[in-house]
Amino acid sequence: MDAHASLEFEIRRLIAAVGPIPVSQYVALCLTHPVHGYYVTRDPLGAAGDFITAPEISQMFGELIGLWSAAAWKAMGVPENVRLVELGPGRGTLMRDALRALNVTPAFRKALVVHLVEVSPALERVQRETLAGSAVMVHWHRDLSEVPAGPVIILANEFIDAIPVHQAVRQEDGWHERVVGVTAAGNFTFGVRPEPIPHFGRVLPKSVREAPFGSIFEWRPDSLAFEVGRRVRDKGVALMIDYGHTESEVGDTLQAVGQHAFADPLIAPGMVDITAHVDFQAFGTAAESMGAAVHGPLEQGEFLMRLGIEARAEALKATALPAKKTEVEAAYARLTQSGRTGMGRLFKVMALADPAIGPLPAFEG
Ligand code: SAH
Repeated sequence: MDAHASLEFEIRRLIAAVGPIPVSQYVALCLTHPVHGYYVTRDPLGAAGDFITAPEISQMFGELIGLWSAAAWKAMGVPENVRLVELGPGRGTLMRDALRALNVTPAFRKALVVHLVEVSPALERVQRETLAGSAVMVHWHRDLSEVPAGPVIILANEFIDAIPVHQAVRQEDGWHERVVGVTAAGNFTFGVRPEPIPHFGRVLPKSVREAPFGSIFEWRPDSLAFEVGRRVRDKGVALMIDYGHTESEVGDTLQAVGQHAFADPLIAPGMVDITAHVDFQAFGTAAESMGAAVHGPLEQGEFLMRLGIEARAEALKATALPAKKTEVEAAYARLTQSGRTGMGRLFKVMALADPAIGPLPAFEG
């Protein structure tokens, strides 16, 4: 039996035993099942993989984030031991580019130890190769809770979107959790729980609470935002970059992607990436409730412009061959602009920080 057939079999057996399962549980099995999960079994990134991310598009992305981290370290009062944490580092490209850019700030490089939080053994192997030459100490963890306490800079690009979402559908008698079941013909299908979630409407922002019947609301458990908030509130900062919305809103954003094309999330579980947009308002509110200050979110294009991506692109072009010049221009456009393939507006950047820390680069004013 191939990998997806065995995961499909396992999910069918589960549904036969317990009935339809929440969308979030279905997605969690697809992505991080310890044997057959999408992230566990493969390196999904890059031209040969299923999707491409900002650090894979251009070295400029990781470099600017490295320099942002150095400025944040100064704003923190230059602690002499700092954990530079990345959540879901993919191929390790962002960290490699960041560390290279930090050659210009040797005091920060000396103060930092890198901690990578990665669930995928396959990607951990790639990260070890990518970072082999970077001459800093690197530790791997499966969960943020394993990273030792202390002054911290947390980075995350396209990490939150990979945390499974719950979905609820508004009906006349309340909000019903959306589930995945099996049809008489044996296919996976979406449905809703017969009973509404008790008092669910009361915890929702007003705009969402009064959405038309049939609307879908998506949420993630607050545990990651709580953990990030708790860690940064005392000598820490975090930079969360992802696609999503600044304010909580309704809408079904669950999407599956395989080989650079949209796919059906209910077909071939474990073989395609399944994500959903990030609700930055919810993330910020949860981190704030733990004592963190929220900065932004800014649109990614604006954030990168404020960090000087224009000058960095010009500098790269000045020494590049013509083909490489065109590549830098294309990457610059893709990272900063809107439009079908542009990441500049859909992607948002939110910082969370110790409230005692002054303005952070790109977020001041
Ligand atoms: N940040 C990288 C990769 C984004 S893909 C980039 O921008 O290119 C999402 C990453 O998060 C992958 O490395 C994936 O293996 C990891 N991941 C997904 N769910 C995770 C979880 N629950 N815990 C830890 N890592 C996870």
